[in-house]
Amino acid sequence: MKILVLNCGSSSLKYQLIDMNNDAVLCSGLAERIGDAMGKITHKAFPGTDKQKVLTVEEPFKDHTAALGRCAGLITGGEAPVATPADIAAIGHRVVHGGEAFRQPTLITPEVVKAIKDFCSLAPLHNPAGLMGIEAATALFPGVKQAAVFDTAFHGTIPDYAYLFAIPFGLYQELGIRRYGFHGTSHGYVAKKLSQIIGKPFEQTSCVTVHLGNGCSMAAVKNGQCVDTSMGLTPLMGLMMGTRSGDVDPSLHAFLAANKGYTIEQVDTLLNKESGLKGICGLNDMRDIHSAREKGDKKAELALKMFCYRVKHYIGAYLAALDGCDAVVFTAGIGENDPDVRQYSCDTLGAVGVKIDRDRNFGFKRGEVCKISTDDSPVAIYVIPTNEELEIATQTASLLGSK
Ligand code: ADP
Repeated sequence: MKILVLNCGSSSLKYQLIDMNNDAVLCSGLAERIGDAMGKITHKAFPGTDKQKVLTVEEPFKDHTAALGRCAGLITGGEAPVATPADIAAIGHRVVHGGEAFRQPTLITPEVVKAIKDFCSLAPLHNPAGLMGIEAATALFPGVKQAAVFDTAFHGTIPDYAYLFAIPFGLYQELGIRRYGFHGTSHGYVAKKLSQIIGKPFEQTSCVTVHLGNGCSMAAVKNGQCVDTSMGLTPLMGLMMGTRSGDVDPSLHAFLAANKGYTIEQVDTLLNKESGLKGICGLNDMRDIHSAREKGDKKAELALKMFCYRVKHYIGAYLAALDGCDAVVFTAGIGENDPDVRQYSCDTLGAVGVKIDRDRNFGFKRGEVCKISTDDSPVAIYVIPTNEELEIATQTASLLGSK
C-alpha cells in the first residue's frame, strides 16, 4: 500500500510517497514560493538510494492546487514516475491544530474540513495552509481517501491542571485558551520508537522527548500518554528557538507598550521573528552559531548557553512531573546532530539521575539511534531520528484498517 503524505506551509508544499510494506520512501519533494512570480519544485525519486534521481522544475504556481498538480505529474507520470494515481491508497495531511476535538487521526469529511477551518483562529498561520493542501488533493485525487493527522493530537491526554493557564476560567470556556502543544507527531513517534528500543510496551514507557529543530518543544510522556508539553496556546511558548523567544514574563507586552510605544502586533513580531537565538546573537541557525563561537563571538556563546539552560530547566521539571522516567530522547535537526547542545543540556543532571557519556555523545554515527548515557545512569539518554512523514503515513494507513 502506498500513502502520499502532504505537509503544506503558507507558500510551500512538502510531500513523500511511502510504501507501507517496507516503510520505503519512493519519492519526496518540495514545492516552494507558491504564489510568487517564480516557483520551484525539487523532486527526488527513490531518495537516499543508489537509484536516486533528482528533478527540478522552475515555473510559477498560482496556488497550492497548481503546485500539487505539477508534483502529482512527477509522482505518477513524470520522468521518474513511482506510482500511478490508482496506486495511491490514501493521502495523509499534516494539520497543525485540531483543538480539543481531534485526538486521533481522522478521515477527512466536509464536517472535518469545517472544524479545521474553525480552528484557524487558534493557528492563523498554519491551519489555512493545511486546508489549501486538502483542497488541492481533493481536486487532483478525487475519490482517494484523505486523513488529517494533527500536531496537537498526541497532547490530548495532558491533564487539566497542566493544560490550563492561571487566568480567569471563563476565557478557557469561551475561547478555548489553554495549552495545546505542537510537534505531537514527532514526540509520539520517538516515544514509540524508544519503547521498541528498550523492549517495553508503550503503555509502560515513560520519557522526556526533546524536539530541537527550527521550532523547539519538549514533552513529558508517562506510560505512553503525554502529560505535559512546553508549547502552549501557540508555538511561541516554552523553549528558546531560532527566532522565537519561548517563555518570557507575560507583562512584556504592557512594558514595551508603555516604554517604547509598541503595538500588540509589533510585540508579537518581536517575540516570534526577532527573538530566540537570533535576538541574542543575530544568528538563528545552530550551525552558524557554532562557527561564530569558534571565532570567539561571545554573544553566540551566550545564545548557546541560554538555549541549553532552558532545555535543562524543562528536563528537570518533567522528571519531577513524571515520577519515574526511562529515558530522555533528543530528536530533530539540532537534537539529532548537535552533540554540544546535548552535552550542555545534560551536563549537570547527574544528581537527578541523568548522566551523559561524553565519548558516546560525541562519537556516534549521525542519523542512527544511539544511547549516549553512561551505563550506570538511572535515566537513559537516547538520540532517535524523528520521522514525522512515516508517522503520518502509519496513522493514515491505520484508518484504512491496515498497519
Ligand atoms: P524543522 O523544525 O524546520 O523541521 P529541522 O528539524 O530540520 O527543522 O531542524 C533545523 C535546524 O537544525 C536548523 O536550524 C539547524 O540549526 C539545525 N541543524 C541541522 N543540522 C545541524 C548540525 N549538523 N549541527 C547543528 N545543528 C544542526
